[in-house]
Amino acid sequence: MKEYLKHHEWQIIEEGLNPHYNMVSESVFSIGNGRMGQRANFEEEYSGETLRGSYVAGVYYPDKTRVGWWKNGYPEYFAKVLNAPNWIGIRVAIDNQKLDLAKCKVDNFKRILDMKVGLLSRSFTATFPDGKTIKVDSKRFCSMARGEVGAIRYAITPVNFSSKATLSLYVDADVVNKDSNYDEKFWEEVNKEATEGRAIVTAQTKKTLFHVTTGMCYTILSDGKKIPFERVNLEQREKYAGNVLQLNLLEGKELVIYKYGAVLSSENHAKENLVTACKKVLDDAIATGFESLFEEHAKVWAHKWEECDITIEGDVAAQQGIRFNIFQLTQTYTGEDERLNIGPKGFTGEKYGGSTYWDTEAYCIPFYLGTAEQKVARNLLIYRYKHLAKAIENATKLGFKDGAAFYPFVTMNGEECHNEWEITFEEIHRTSAMAYAIRDYIDYTGDQGYLVEYGLEVLIGVSRFWSQRVNWSADKNKYVILGVTGPNEYENNVNNNWYTNYLGAWTLRFTQQSIDYVKSADPKRYSEIVSKLGFSEISETKKWGEIVKDMYYPEDPGRGVILQQDGFLDKEIRHVDDLSPSDRPINQKWSWDRILRSCFIKQADVLQGIYLFEDDFDIEKIRRNFDFYEPMTVHESSLSPCVHAILASKLGYKEMAYAFYLRTARLDIDDYNNDTEDGCHITSMAGTWMSVIKGFGGMRVRNGKLHFSPFIPDQWKSYSFRLEFRKRVIKVKVSKEGVQTVLEAGEPIEIVMNDKILSLKL
Ligand code: BGC
Repeated sequence: MKEYLKHHEWQIIEEGLNPHYNMVSESVFSIGNGRMGQRANFEEEYSGETLRGSYVAGVYYPDKTRVGWWKNGYPEYFAKVLNAPNWIGIRVAIDNQKLDLAKCKVDNFKRILDMKVGLLSRSFTATFPDGKTIKVDSKRFCSMARGEVGAIRYAITPVNFSSKATLSLYVDADVVNKDSNYDEKFWEEVNKEATEGRAIVTAQTKKTLFHVTTGMCYTILSDGKKIPFERVNLEQREKYAGNVLQLNLLEGKELVIYKYGAVLSSENHAKENLVTACKKVLDDAIATGFESLFEEHAKVWAHKWEECDITIEGDVAAQQGIRFNIFQLTQTYTGEDERLNIGPKGFTGEKYGGSTYWDTEAYCIPFYLGTAEQKVARNLLIYRYKHLAKAIENATKLGFKDGAAFYPFVTMNGEECHNEWEITFEEIHRTSAMAYAIRDYIDYTGDQGYLVEYGLEVLIGVSRFWSQRVNWSADKNKYVILGVTGPNEYENNVNNNWYTNYLGAWTLRFTQQSIDYVKSADPKRYSEIVSKLGFSEISETKKWGEIVKDMYYPEDPGRGVILQQDGFLDKEIRHVDDLSPSDRPINQKWSWDRILRSCFIKQADVLQGIYLFEDDFDIEKIRRNFDFYEPMTVHESSLSPCVHAILASKLGYKEMAYAFYLRTARLDIDDYNNDTEDGCHITSMAGTWMSVIKGFGGMRVRNGKLHFSPFIPDQWKSYSFRLEFRKRVIKVKVSKEGVQTVLEAGEPIEIVMNDKILSLKL
């Protein structure tokens, strides 16, 4: 765990240059706007440890699979988010000495991410080998108001000299992916141009042929006036275009470079129009100017924060943590484009390929349901609806038939990308995350129409998968599911993972209810679906009913606990507290076989199921299971602590809930798992939000009503949050004195607070 970043309610602050933590900071201070984003790299060149990373939403490359032992059914490729052309670069040289913070003497270094307005700033003084010192102040943002625009204000003041400076302002498409299977470059040049004041490069991805046009233009001011350059050289080489300027620096006088970037992709423009459109975006940006662009951008952030801020009084670390999580989620996905989704690292790194995982359905959808308009979560569901045909293809490839839908574990376009047998073929619970998300969405919004329009088709496909994936055990006289990996990936190829069996059977039940609903709500649409899917209702649902009735669930009646899978109790039952710190994290310290044989659990598994279907269990059963499994859980997936925080809150384990909250909220800021340099854990950030709302706030939706049963951690004076719920906005403030609930927008509504009905009106 690293604690080098300062605590502040709205800002992330790094004081002093920390070269060893630079890659961590580059992740934590990342900025984005839903369309594009980037790690917090320095504008100038840096020869120290760095991962230069800019990313464009929806642009990916299918990197040829690399595995040790090919298994039939593996996908041919792993789709990767691409490290995209860099528009931020500003090279500075004074008397032929390059500004490079790894080589100069650096003082007063400060990096700040102001989350309130989405602004990344940096300031420092740098002394060159010949003793000349400059002071630099930079500010940068990716506009939330104009998705294709970024802007930089880069100010240089010579402290103890007057001399000539050389500046290079450029765009560079000659970038490499850190995450590349064969060290190939993924971009090819389409065209480029450099003119005085402007440079544009269009590059295309190999194989997928996405075009991305990246442009830059700039103005340079001194004393608020544009300054003439002594010389401007146009620079062009493969995939690169820029301007090199010579100018005079006067001691004590600030020189300000405003650099505007434009990033356009063929996802949003016809390829032949990209360059013209890029010029227009740049012309508009420069005409608007940095300050006004920033104002527009800050206004969007103000509005976003109004919708989704959580305030915590009395605990700055906790406040900073939750705002950081909300900030990152909001700048990763805005919900405006149903082709996009949320990669586990967002725009902060390349690990996990930037693709879509079950994380979206199990973790992110509740966040967007609570904090954004209904259409945002709906768009996420439609994304999967659009991938239904591919999910059916994916299942067919593995030997399933008759329209069974097996959603991928990792995907960009609906095709499976993952290629480890224990996950690709065995971590099958993910296909039902799609079904659960549909229920979650309908429960929360009341939008049953979604079932009619889209949802039922997905549910039938997924149910068909389960009905073929189970088998009858004559020995047990039950249906069983063999050879799976549950959410706890530290167990592979197990039989009857309880979570998987429960979710599979639940999906069949829910699909049956949904069929009944659609049939009566819209018989015409129902017959359309029946004929589109070739659905034999009577025979197919008969089998589903039998599976639901006779599904096998491993339990230990003696202890009164659910068993994670068959044979779990054959393991030596140990507690995480018995491990020495040198054993942790076990995924870095132990051999894989040792992990598999141990009882240690990577992430919530039985408890994940109890969390999703909490109302199916009485409180004592929840307690027994929590007390049994929590001490064995190492939480080596970022998705785990939040589920434990929610259940600990329910059980009244307040201190434990608070500790889990802090762990999830500050996971990246404090680099708990020693892996933030790869990027931030964006999808688990939604879990942090849930720890507050569903954990401390005790929010649930039951029979269309919002329920709360809040408590306040001892460390806090108060906390408050707002929820969008069925066209209402409800604000809840919890303090030591009690709970205040206010309806801020919408029609009167009844909610349930600690089992009592409250009527709220404006
Ligand atoms: C977790 C998965 C998760 C993935 C991406 C893995 O470590 O075990 O459940 O989907 O990370 O976040």
